[in-house]
Amino acid sequence: MNTPNAEWRDLDALHHLHPFTNHASLRAAGARVIVKADGPYIYDSEGHRILDGMAGLWTTNVGYGRRELADAARDQILELPFYNTFFKTTHPPVVALSQKLAEIAPPHINQVFYGSSGSESNDTAIRLIRHYWALKGEPSRRVIISRKNAYHGSTIAAGSMGGMGHVHQHSYPVYEGFRHVMDPCWFDEGNDGESLDEFGIRAARAIEDEILAVGPENVAAFAGELVQGAGGVKIAPNTYWPEVQRIVDKYGILLLADEVITGFGRLGTWFASDHYGIKPNLITFAKAVTSGYLPLSGLLIDDRIVEALLAHDDDFNHGYTFSGHPVACAVALKNLEIMERERLLPRVTDYAAPALARMLGKFKDHPLVGEVRSVGMMGAMELVADKKTRRRFENPGRVGLICRDHFFREGFIMRAVFDTMVCAPPLIWADSEFEEAERVIGKALDLTLADVAGEIAA
Ligand code: PMP
Repeated sequence: MNTPNAEWRDLDALHHLHPFTNHASLRAAGARVIVKADGPYIYDSEGHRILDGMAGLWTTNVGYGRRELADAARDQILELPFYNTFFKTTHPPVVALSQKLAEIAPPHINQVFYGSSGSESNDTAIRLIRHYWALKGEPSRRVIISRKNAYHGSTIAAGSMGGMGHVHQHSYPVYEGFRHVMDPCWFDEGNDGESLDEFGIRAARAIEDEILAVGPENVAAFAGELVQGAGGVKIAPNTYWPEVQRIVDKYGILLLADEVITGFGRLGTWFASDHYGIKPNLITFAKAVTSGYLPLSGLLIDDRIVEALLAHDDDFNHGYTFSGHPVACAVALKNLEIMERERLLPRVTDYAAPALARMLGKFKDHPLVGEVRSVGMMGAMELVADKKTRRRFENPGRVGLICRDHFFREGFIMRAVFDTMVCAPPLIWADSEFEEAERVIGKALDLTLADVAGEIAA
């Protein structure tokens, strides 16, 4: 691997197709080559140091460069690099991690089924939900209600459960049995004069309307990200989740919480379900369970579903070669140990979440910014053509990309979801990182404003 840095970009263009990418424009511009990372920073091949406001891809909660995680992986590779969990076999790292996850999960959840990606674990959830209802003698319960703008993954089933038109639109028909209702984002869906609380109830009742339209006897589950991440950090009002819980309880349907982004401290609790006070039957996790150092995901499953499995002398015909991979499990255990030892969860609640909210709040009066919002360590800024009416720019995504490129040039990463700028910093940020981010955001917003000044409402 002695290829000079300048050549990486060309070789990448020749041989590597990237996820969720316009390949023609990437080919024209070339990829940025990231060569190393440390603490809150990544470094590119041209020597730029970049503050990572996205924690990788919502993953790197403990920051980069943790030797302990490298040591945990190395030790486990030398001890037992791989063995499957199919042949009535198990191994210490998967047992220890499962015990730890049962300890930190809500009390009614005590079992884990592993995968290597969020998509895989959502596929596991979809199969298990339908299997559960078949075991219970209600096989007509197959429909899973989810929401517009939801992201649950890129496999065909998880992609269909998600509610993004641009994911559905090409290459496959949407898999049968999913219905999508409005998402609970006031900025997009709220009516003028409607309070946040009223809006939260209305958005939750859209689920009840759909249950009644489909027929409760046909509905298996409601699935939702506790905060819609990839959809643009869409944060539900406080009234939403309690009302969702009331509705799923009323009709006896399962609640699947997709915590692939929110799991492991992003909202200052192990799971965002604790933050919102809900009791899901299933929780999908991935990303930050290892802080992204190795791929690992899983589905946490409540006792009610496990009891149904145990009551039948039959197989659940589902699993992945790497379910419970020993090295990934060893790294996850060490990662959770670091989070506990450094008290990162209370740190989010007491320091980092208020600091992020304060920092973003400083830009709410900027002429480009229609709204700032945050919960825990995830936040968003809406870039709009007209602040008063919340009118967006023409060609959604164009201004977001202009802004994102200014951020990058100034040494900071915030992701553009169309014209919503989102961030999810690692949980370790201190005053110096918040101050650095604030400086760059101010400058990048002004530069973006100069680029699009002619399109802004007077
Ligand atoms: N669910 C959510 C909420 C996600 O944000 C993602 C990925 N961003 C996924 C599922 C899919 O995870 P993966 O990319 O690991 O398949």
